[in-house]
Amino acid sequence: MPNRSVSWLRRRRKALLRKLPNLEAILKGSLVERFKRCGRPGCKCARGPGHGPKYYLSISRTGARPLMEYVPQEYCNQVREYLANHHRVREILAEVCAINQELLRRRKPL
Ligand SMILES: [Zn+2]
Repeated sequence: MPNRSVSWLRRRRKALLRKLPNLEAILKGSLVERFKRCGRPGCKCARGPGHGPKYYLSISRTGARPLMEYVPQEYCNQVREYLANHHRVREILAEVCAINQELLRRRKPL
């Protein structure tokens, strides 16, 4: 970024903001797959990996185990999309911040 012109940086900043996903459509965490044994005597799951896969939204918390929120199958694709959107939002914000930091370093109007 140091070798980019100020006008390039400003254009890049505008372009980044246009690529922001819908901010309503975001979720934080990760989608994880789990197989569970039901414990019923004689069930075939006792020998295999268990019933599943079942999906959970795993949300990390500071100083605690991650929160595991059950995700019904029919929500999985939407949840994946929302997680990807959140990831993209964070990338875009980080780059906009880096551009603003660069403008500040050069003593240019932000
Ligand atoms: Zn079972």
